[in-house]
Amino acid sequence: MGGHPFVVHVGKLRRQVGARWHEERRGCLEGLDCSGSAVPADAPLLADVVLESVLGGVSVSGTVVAPWVGECRRCLAPASGELRVAVRELYTEGGDGDDTYPLVDDQVDLEPLVHDAVLLELPPAPLCRPDCRGLCPVCGADRNEEPCACEAPRDPRWGALDVLRVPGGAGPGGDPGDD
Ligand SMILES: [Zn+2]
Ligand SMILES: [Zn+2]
Repeated sequence: MGGHPFVVHVGKLRRQVGARWHEERRGCLEGLDCSGSAVPADAPLLADVVLESVLGGVSVSGTVVAPWVGECRRCLAPASGELRVAVRELYTEGGDGDDTYPLVDDQVDLEPLVHDAVLLELPPAPLCRPDCRGLCPVCGADRNEEPCACEAPRDPRWGALDVLRVPGGAGPGGDPGDD
C-alpha cells in the first residue's frame, strides 16, 4: 500500500463499457469526526466496492466499513462501534464532488467517497450500550455500576400538606365568637 491506498487505476476497466471489477481498499483518513464520535486517525477504513465501466465514467457501489469511538451521552463512558455504509456513486470526467466525483487521468480516488459516506453516518449521540442507565442526576453515580441511595426527588407539595395537617388548623371563617 502506497501513500494513496484509495486510488484505483481504471484505464483497463474503461476499455469496455459494462466491464466490472471488485476492489477492496484499506486506509486511514484524518478529520472524520462529528460532535459525538470520530474515526480514530490510525484506524483503517475499508472500501469494499465493485467498479463498473459506464458511458462517460465509472460507477462505484458497495460498502464502506469504519470503526468509531465516542463518549456515551448518558454515562460518559467510552463508546465504540463499527459503521457499515452502503455507497453508490458515479465518477465522471469533469465531476466536481457534488453530483459526481471527478475521474482524472483514468484514476478513481475512493477517498472522498469514503470520507463523505462515513461523515454522514457517524453517530452524533452514541450510547455505550442500548440500555445504558446513565448517571444519577442527584449524586452523579453511574447507575450501570450500582443503584445509588438517592430516592426520586421529593415533590415539594408534600411538604406543604404536612404543614396544613396541624391540629386546630380549621381554615378560614371558623371563629363563631366574633359577632
Ligand atoms: Zn452509557
Ligand atoms: Zn444518586
